[in-house]
Amino acid sequence: YDIATLKRANEQHAVKNIKNIIVVSSGKGGVGKSTTAVNLALALQHEGAKVGLLDADIYGPSIPTMLGTQNQHPMSPDNQHMMPIMAFGLATNSIGYLVEQDNAMVWRGPMASKALLQILQDTMWPELDYLVIDMPPGTGDIQLTLAQSIPVTGSVIVTTPQDIALIDAKKGITMFNKVNIPTIGIIENMSYHICENCGHHEAIFGEGGAAQLAKHYHTQLLGQIPLDRVLRQDLDNGRPTVISQPDNPFSQIYNELADRI
Ligand code: ADP
Ligand code: MG
Repeated sequence: YDIATLKRANEQHAVKNIKNIIVVSSGKGGVGKSTTAVNLALALQHEGAKVGLLDADIYGPSIPTMLGTQNQHPMSPDNQHMMPIMAFGLATNSIGYLVEQDNAMVWRGPMASKALLQILQDTMWPELDYLVIDMPPGTGDIQLTLAQSIPVTGSVIVTTPQDIALIDAKKGITMFNKVNIPTIGIIENMSYHICENCGHHEAIFGEGGAAQLAKHYHTQLLGQIPLDRVLRQDLDNGRPTVISQPDNPFSQIYNELADRI
């Protein structure tokens, strides 16, 4: 398949209902892309937008667990397209809905890219103001194919303040620059931890890195999310903090972050 053809097909069909496609990306795995994508999507919805969430991490789909939809399977009214699974008002789809949870994906790059484009194209997305895409980690073939074959509005880069994460975040920004996708901003996750005994802010992974990165690439630091048990537990339980505890200061951080997008 060639990229020009896919691009045309997408512009005509799957994404015609979608005003903005935002990819949540990071060079490195485990920095909190999915955590951010879920809470960000819900915060955008809280502002009144119609939002979809596509789990594009085909090697490690975690959105179904985080939304408590892991046992659901998309219905197909015509045996060709899938109805999105609705969760807390979000229209979602994930490779995780389509395969057994314990089955490892062993696809090579091109097949993986194709699977991803297919799940995007074959989903009957409702009218959406935003489709948030939770990307797989890295800056390889999958990211490039997706970036080149769908009209991406911009990327949100997630990093921790740790040097090795920042190095990979740079690679991510450089890759999107090459394919002319603007970087909307950087989110620093696991930015600090508030000591449960003393109340002090502890910079576990270092300090100031994401702000420097944003400055260097002339983009904005969208927000800093602390490392906190609550955020993790809520997602492990399939009830994101923005939903389960709307008055929690963390929810406020995500809402402010959504305001900047
Ligand atoms: P990625 O999608 O980048 O691989 P995840 O969002 O899955 O990363 O996060 C990796 C792990 O770290 C998950 O178990 C998640 O619950 C936890 N985690 C992510 N961000 C935070 C945070 N700010 N506070 C506490 N735990 C977090
Ligand atoms: Mg993830």
